[in-house]
Order: sequence, then structure tokens, then C-alpha cells
Amino acid sequence: MSYDPQNIFAKILRGEIPSHKVYEDADTLAFMDVMPQVDGHVLVIPKAPSRGLLDADPAVLARAITVVQKVAAAASKAFAADGFQIRQYNEPAGGQTVFHLHFHVLPMHAGQGLRPHSGKMADHAVLARHAEMIRQAL
Ligand code: 5GP
Repeated sequence: MSYDPQNIFAKILRGEIPSHKVYEDADTLAFMDVMPQVDGHVLVIPKAPSRGLLDADPAVLARAITVVQKVAAAASKAFAADGFQIRQYNEPAGGQTVFHLHFHVLPMHAGQGLRPHSGKMADHAVLARHAEMIRQAL
């Protein structure tokens, strides 16, 4: 399967669709998931186009996972989390719904469950506040 430049994250990268940004550098963007499975759910994406993990350049992956680490630390601190999950889905059978490589960062509290994947759209004011909390913790 090939990369479709009309996917929603490519549109976010081009600024055609708004997002609540948490972190950005030359290679990577981190922004709030619009349907968060927990409060503080962030997506980290490389700017270089790849559909999933397997078609990504390893050098791109190395830079992206470094940002995943940074964002996981900040989101955990901002939400006083007990731990966190990193999730990454590939192809529809693997649960992927947006076909631009991304890592989910999910700050977790003891005994807490996840809301449904691609579930309910969050209030934009709440996402903006959560993004600010994470930026402050970077
Ligand atoms: P996947 O199933 O591909 O791993 O996850 C895609 C994620 O993107 C889902 O968690 C979904 O909530 C999120 N998402 C889908 N559309 C948008 C959007 O337009 N903006 C943002 N910020 N997140 C989105």
C-alpha cells in the first residue's frame, strides 16, 4: 500500500487543518489526539511521509522515538501519571485508521481504563488547555 498525501495528518503538517500542537522541530510534530482515549493523549508524527512503521527510514524513526520519549515525560508530569503507554498501529487489520506513521502517547493512572479508540471528539478548549499543560512540562 502506498502513502496518500491527502491523509488527515499530512493536512495537519501542511497547516490545512488545525491542531493543538505540543512540540515541533524540523523533523517531528506532536499534537493532541482529537478523540483522546485518556486525558493528555498525544500523537507524535515524523514530518517525512511514511504510511507506517515498515516504510519509514530508520533515521527518521530514531528522531521520532526521541520525541516520543520527551513527550511521554512531559505528558506524564503534566497529568501526574503513574505510568504511560506508547501505541502504534499498522494497517486496518492492526487497528490503524490514519495512514501516516504516528505514535500514541497515553499517560496512565493506576487502575484506569482507556476510552474507545477513535471514540468521542473532545472539546477544543479542553484540548487547548491540555496541550498548554504538556508544553509547560517539556
Ligand atoms: P490510528 O488508529 O491510525 O492509530 O489512530 C489515529 C488517531 O488519530 C485516532 O486516535 C484518532 O482519534 C486521531 N485523529 C483522527 N482524526 C484526527 C484529526 O483530525 N485530528 C487529530 N488531532 N487527531 C485525529
